[in-house]
Amino acid sequence: MLTVRTIDPQVWIGCLACYTAGRLVGDWYAANAADLITPADLHGRETTHEELWVMDHEGFCGALKGECSPSEAAEVAEMLADLKEHEAAPFAAWVEVFGEESEREHWVDQFRDAYRGFYEDEAAYAREWAEETSSDEDKERMKRWPFNEIDWRRAAEELFSGGLHAEDAPGGIWVFWSR
Ligand SMILES: [Zn+2]
Repeated sequence: MLTVRTIDPQVWIGCLACYTAGRLVGDWYAANAADLITPADLHGRETTHEELWVMDHEGFCGALKGECSPSEAAEVAEMLADLKEHEAAPFAAWVEVFGEESEREHWVDQFRDAYRGFYEDEAAYAREWAEETSSDEDKERMKRWPFNEIDWRRAAEELFSGGLHAEDAPGGIWVFWSR
């Protein structure tokens, strides 16, 4: 199956021995290959320096904090490779709020279970949810009074106090199921 790779985290890998000696020797690499970089690659020649370290990184959607070993970075990049581009921003938001509650290796699956989508606001979510979960008969009924005058904002308050979580997104909210 052909998959388009859209999440492409990068790492800055440096030599620890050089770093300790006050020199920054390193470079940016694609994170998914971080564990394949050798000290010789990094120095451009054979070297007795052995330990490499990820000193900076970008594009990990919040799944990597601080410094780490190249193999850890590659592992996390591997996990993220499964994410689609449109999932990257809500995934990062989900990690921020719920990431600590579970193991990192399950994050992508759990994010997908929890993610309900992007909506203009809570009321818009409540309205869509009501439409999706009602029968055709109910849908007809909802077009007529008093159902056509439902206060969706209040309905949304009920929904969001019962296990839904809204996180600010550009131009709206991301909705997550939180348990
Ligand atoms: Zn070195």
